[in-house]
Amino acid sequence: MNEATEMLNDLFKDFERSTRKNKNLTFKRGKPLAIKQPRVLFEIDDLEQIEFLCCHRTAKLSLLSKTITPFCPYCGVN
Ligand SMILES: [Zn+2]
Repeated sequence: MNEATEMLNDLFKDFERSTRKNKNLTFKRGKPLAIKQPRVLFEIDDLEQIEFLCCHRTAKLSLLSKTITPFCPYCGVN
């Protein structure tokens, strides 16, 4: 998506440059298209709270890290 936006911006730049000397055709480039920020991969909703019995504390783990053995961030026990 970002690459396409940058391509469009370049295209407008080239087009503006190529029409600058043509009096019958004027093209003024406005603001450059906004380039979207990359999406945050893990949002709060994707996190799941897991209770670690070893420390009697809870920690939030992403769904991805649930596929491996949960790892206690407090004492390091699996
Ligand atoms: Zn622990």
